Amino acid sequence: MRTCYDVTIIGAGLAGLQCARLLARQGLNVLLVDRKNTLRQKIHTTGIFVRRTLVDFDIPDDCLGPAIRHVSLYSPAQRPLELVSQHDEFRVGRMGQLYERYLQQCLHAGVHWLPQTSYVSHSVANGKVELQLSSRSVTTRYLIGADGARSRVARDLKLDLNREFIVGVESVFQGTVLDGPPRLLCFLDPKLAPGYIAWIAHDGEETHLGVGGYPSLFEPTAALNDFRSRVEGIIDLRNAKQIEARAGLIPVGGVLRNIANSTGLLIGDAAGAVSPLTAGGLDPCMRLSAFAASVVTEYLSTGHVEVLQVYSGELFRSRFASRLWARRIAATLRQRQLLEVGCALLRLPVFSRLAHHVFFGRGSFPDVTDSLSTLQHSKGELCRQHFP
Ligand SMILES: Cc1cc2nc3c(=O)[nH]c(=O)nc-3n(C[C@H](O)[C@H](O)[C@H](O)COP(=O)(O)OP(=O)(O)OC[C@H]3O[C@@H](n4cnc5c(N)ncnc54)[C@H](O)[C@@H]3O)c2cc1C
Repeated sequence: MRTCYDVTIIGAGLAGLQCARLLARQGLNVLLVDRKNTLRQKIHTTGIFVRRTLVDFDIPDDCLGPAIRHVSLYSPAQRPLELVSQHDEFRVGRMGQLYERYLQQCLHAGVHWLPQTSYVSHSVANGKVELQLSSRSVTTRYLIGADGARSRVARDLKLDLNREFIVGVESVFQGTVLDGPPRLLCFLDPKLAPGYIAWIAHDGEETHLGVGGYPSLFEPTAALNDFRSRVEGIIDLRNAKQIEARAGLIPVGGVLRNIANSTGLLIGDAAGAVSPLTAGGLDPCMRLSAFAASVVTEYLSTGHVEVLQVYSGELFRSRFASRLWARRIAATLRQRQLLEVGCALLRLPVFSRLAHHVFFGRGSFPDVTDSLSTLQHSKGELCRQHFP
């Protein structure tokens, strides 16, 4: 008889891997599918993890670069504002290595792994989901879309779709020379990075040099070349070796509202789980995937479809309100002079606290423990209402 998986996850980025290993550790029969043949290919992230993620999740130390405490924020005229934290704030993940480590943990927990296989479509029959994959068809009780910013699974499940994106491109180097401690250098410049920033993340071992912005307002590869030549006086790349090129779309419209139904749900970029202001998506991947794993485990063990109602973007959107407003403002800041004045203001003590808060604040993706207690509460309520 053909296997019926409890859960099939499409996409083995950070969101899919985190969810797969948690579900399998709960004893569920999980299939993980990705179109890539190796997880070291086509990585969609710089991999900067913030302190809160490093504290709350088991990210192996050998998959992370040295800690970073310093941020230099450059105005369009390249006047720097130096910000220093008392804590180790960031570490740049060695993402290929981290994905492979999480995949090993998935396999150890019993996850079935199908690389080099694309999701094509699905249909529902007799309460089961029939999945058409590029290499075969499979049956599953529940489907999870972890297939990134332009999720095909979201479209087929008739759930919400991301509509606002920035695009990011970067080169990764070894052997660069940059004086001083490991640091993040962020450049505000409406030409190089309209609506976002250009960045150098240098942890002493690897250097990521990238630009991001609204795709309709710039040509990313040309902007990256331009950026590289503009920072020649800051970073010495003459003897550096480029080891990777990375690129991807980043959804910045906030967590989508409708992200679950009785056939499947969305996690990671597919759910729009990215901070609209900083465009950080790694912390949301870890937290939303953990939340999804507990909701799906509960749903499959009880069969109560009401449990899925708790898994809604509405839980998180109110906590994103200020960041969505900040994104609206960032999208309109296209004049160099205006940004220069803004940067000058940030040097005043009262405003530099704001910059400190943006870079070093502990607030990240809304804490899922709040949502989990909502889940516990609603489960109790649901049981009382529906199963007296
Ligand atoms: C250039 C760039 C830099 C970034 N830097 C940072 C950063 O430093 N810190 C931070 O917090 N956030 C950063 N982000 C955002 C963050 O990286 C993402 O939010 C996060 O990686 C999303 O993970 P994911 O698992 O949801 O998606 P992805 O990593 O995109 O994984 C999706 C997976 O689905 C697979 N897939 C897609 N379609 C199919 C299909 N039809 N069939 C089978 N498989 C499929 C893909 O192959 C891929 O492996 C950055 C984003 C970009 C683009």
